[in-house]
Amino acid sequence: MHELSLIEGILGIANELAETHHAASIESIELEIGTLANVEGEAFDFAWKAATPATVLANAERIIHHIPATARCLICNQEFEIAQYFDECPNCGSFRKEILNGTGVKVKRITLT
Ligand SMILES: [Zn+2]
Repeated sequence: MHELSLIEGILGIANELAETHHAASIESIELEIGTLANVEGEAFDFAWKAATPATVLANAERIIHHIPATARCLICNQEFEIAQYFDECPNCGSFRKEILNGTGVKVKRITLT
């Protein structure tokens, strides 16, 4: 499951930060999940519950921001939000574009206890 490996990555970041600051646990964690990150909410929840007990994230409050994916048209340079990889440019109708963001998951902020 791809959600589980994502959370393992997040856990790695959280562990490192907690260790650096000699914190026993994490109070809250803010995540940015791109609309094209291919993260399924229920699977993410399930994986979170499976992966975080007995870790620094065990009691962490989880705040999730959904980041709309954006792209820039390679023909007319228009920047626009996309819901799907194959969305067309609203300005010129071209399908040729560069995806700017919204395809990944980022740790935005971690609050240590
Ligand atoms: Zn265009």
